[in-house]
Amino acid sequence: MSRIIEPLRGVHDVLPAQIAAWQLLERVAREVFAGYGYEEFRVPVIEHTQLFKRSIGDFTDIVEKEMFSFLDQGEDHITLRPEATAGIVRAVISNGMLREGRLRVWCMGPMFRRERPQAGRFRQFHQIDAEAFGFAGPDVDAEMILLSARLLRRLGLTRTRLLVNSLGTPESRTAYRERLVEYFSAHQAALDEDSKRRLTGNPLRILDSKNPAMQRIVADAPRLLESLDPESRSHFDSLCAHLRSAGIEYHVEPHLVRGLDYYTRTVFEWTTDALGSQSTVCAGGRYDGLVSQLGGAATPGIGWAMGQERIVMLLEKQALAAQRQQPQVYLVLAGESTEIAGFKLAEQLRDAWPDLALQINLGGGSFKTQFRRADKSGAQFALVLGDDEAARGVVGVKALRREMAQEECSFTQISERLGVLLGLRGG
Ligand code: ATP
Ligand code: MG
Repeated sequence: MSRIIEPLRGVHDVLPAQIAAWQLLERVAREVFAGYGYEEFRVPVIEHTQLFKRSIGDFTDIVEKEMFSFLDQGEDHITLRPEATAGIVRAVISNGMLREGRLRVWCMGPMFRRERPQAGRFRQFHQIDAEAFGFAGPDVDAEMILLSARLLRRLGLTRTRLLVNSLGTPESRTAYRERLVEYFSAHQAALDEDSKRRLTGNPLRILDSKNPAMQRIVADAPRLLESLDPESRSHFDSLCAHLRSAGIEYHVEPHLVRGLDYYTRTVFEWTTDALGSQSTVCAGGRYDGLVSQLGGAATPGIGWAMGQERIVMLLEKQALAAQRQQPQVYLVLAGESTEIAGFKLAEQLRDAWPDLALQINLGGGSFKTQFRRADKSGAQFALVLGDDEAARGVVGVKALRREMAQEECSFTQISERLGVLLGLRGG
């Protein structure tokens, strides 16, 4: 016997038994995006490595150590996308989609980061992303957050908290950076290895440290929010006013920074207390410099990304996951001549009821075996076709989950009868 091949570390399968929650999330996301006028955009999973280096930033965790990159046939440096924004910005520029100046899109799919696997942290994971281009004012910041809030609400997720902050303009951020370096340098001895390294490369990231031992120094670090430039200040105040008027509860978190370099002004996160240390379920912010940084005409942008695995975990935790899909009807086919007649009948029923979920017994078996399978399938009804029924042009109808005498129905009437029994609607 050959040895089995294990999956790669940190990747996971979504089993049919788990798919209902995924489909619920994806269906609700589609509906909510449509409700806000966002169109779906599908972009490649592989891009030039340079794209991510130039956008996400050299001193970020992602670019420093988390990218899956390879040299393709000795020619191209390619990376599996660690996030969606960079690829979307690249695509928006390459397809000339900013000619009209404005765009609202969303996308969904797998992302790849070479992280240490733990609960809620994978090497291949999935995100739902929203991005808007060409809107400089705080109205779109509010719309983006309202959209994410509605999505969480529609899913029934209540154990979430919204954190907001502003990183100001690149200039105020640079000035802040200097103040941070000064502050953390004065506390050199108390810094962990990661933070010492970030002190020169990316001091803002020290604020994002997940090491509990760092929390005290971080708590006393200077706050950018208190020295924001006036325009960023009024942008932020206006966003907060929008949130209040929409009844969205939020918490200003002056040390909230994001793990990617391209953010300016608004940044936000939805966190939960229900998933242990992997607590962020959705995160985003404004990136006004990114489009021009990647070679496009200067265009403001804003976006967020929601981790699908973590949302599915929340749905399961709150027992909100949808029921596993089950057939409504199981077709029992016992006898020599019934296979051909049974397939014909099944296709006829599917023609009549496009939404009907009907599973045919494949591979034969005794009546007893087939009824056991029918029961296990979760179907409401078994249709029974034996040689005798086939010869008479009828099919037996047996309820599997309720009291009802077994009936017989002719091939011509069965479709209508099933429609009544299952409350089906025609296509
Ligand atoms: P974290 O602080 O948890 O590492 P991040 O700041 O790296 O998150 P983003 O790049 O903002 O995360 O991605 C947005 C969302 O995608 C996160 O809030 C999270 O829900 C999800 N996410 C990020 N990395 C992973 C991963 N390795 N596995 C599963 N989900 C992830
Ligand atoms: Mg991360």
